[in-house]
Amino acid sequence: MQPSVTRENFDQWIVPTYAPASFVPVKAEGSTLWDQEGKSYIDFAGGIAVNALGHAHPDLQLALQQQATLLWHTGNGYTNEPILRLAKQLVDATFADRAFFCNSGAEANEAALKLARKVAMDNGHQDKNEIVAFKNAFHGRTLFTVSAGGQPAYSKDFAPLPQGIHHAVFNDLTSAAALINDQTCAVIVEPVQGEGGVVPAEPAFLRGLRELCDKHGALLIFDEVQTGVGRSGSLYAYMHYGVTPDVLTTAKALGGGFPMGAMLTTENLAAHLNVGSHGTTYGGNPLAGAVGGKVMELINRPEVLAGVAERHQWFVEGLNAINQRLQLFSEIRGLGLLIGCVLNQDFSGKAKQINLAAAQEGLMVLIAGASVVRFAPSLIITRQEVEEGLLRFERACRAVTEGASV
Ligand SMILES: *Cc1c(COP(=O)(O)O)cnc(C)c1O
Repeated sequence: MQPSVTRENFDQWIVPTYAPASFVPVKAEGSTLWDQEGKSYIDFAGGIAVNALGHAHPDLQLALQQQATLLWHTGNGYTNEPILRLAKQLVDATFADRAFFCNSGAEANEAALKLARKVAMDNGHQDKNEIVAFKNAFHGRTLFTVSAGGQPAYSKDFAPLPQGIHHAVFNDLTSAAALINDQTCAVIVEPVQGEGGVVPAEPAFLRGLRELCDKHGALLIFDEVQTGVGRSGSLYAYMHYGVTPDVLTTAKALGGGFPMGAMLTTENLAAHLNVGSHGTTYGGNPLAGAVGGKVMELINRPEVLAGVAERHQWFVEGLNAINQRLQLFSEIRGLGLLIGCVLNQDFSGKAKQINLAAAQEGLMVLIAGASVVRFAPSLIITRQEVEEGLLRFERACRAVTEGASV
């Protein structure tokens, strides 16, 4: 018998970097989870844009179980079949010629930023080490990536920070142009700012960044950790925008719940990360390769990607109807199945309260800042799950609007 554990034990034994919900999920299937008490929750959070095929997908279970009987890990002194197959899938499906595998989004971005500095250094441009990023961006929690992120609150307590990173205003090309020059080795941007409030880039903004990078010989890095692997309705959001980066980072949905990440780039750039220049013990291990390969196979299909746009419509229509009745949101925005409900002035700062009320009603949602409720559900969530989830969402919103008017 395993000893019984409770939510209270979190506060006793775990470093308090998180404040998890009051219930403990124990199992899940599709887009429904159950907690220790047997209460059900509809999942509009998708493990923060990770569970793109829902929970316990039978084909992913099989891929993981089959690989688990063969080979788990060798270290990068040896390659393996599943990761080679996944690399081929990614190279065939994108602009990239090469993939570097790692375990998370932060590590994929860390690799991308290190690559940009090394390319400039290898080309004899010691001073070309500046990185332009954007305010409100999120790129991960390593010291380099958290410094590239545009929320000083996340980095300021860890000073001194890596140097040479400048932040422009997102969707403001003039502001970016003022910072990008011949000393710039890379521009890193999310096609849709996820944590920063679900803010899609304007197409002209990304096109303008592409031109500025070309003019100044800087690498354009798209952080697609949240937007990638079908979430935008295209396999990668760069395809939706028609703007091709030099480097793309992908993680979250790539493993469908198994931790993994990748940095994708061209043949010429990849050559700079020569033997010994970078690495990670677990990156590209066979278990991750087997699961990631199956995720890509299942998501990179016209009918699944078209289904994302269809589901976007279900959400937007349902949310607009709720808003007609409750007058809660000033805007419903986003791309594909990354959707943000922006609270209007009367309810500004109440996203967390809605998140808590939703849990009461049996619904998991995300927030993106204090005033945006965010959804990042499974790309194959059923119509019935969406409808039931939206019913629960309306009840949660009503609890907050009625609570607020008392
Ligand atoms: C989540 C996220 C990251 C960080 O990924 P981790 O796997 O948590 O390291 C980086 N960039 C974006 C855009 C993200 O959404």
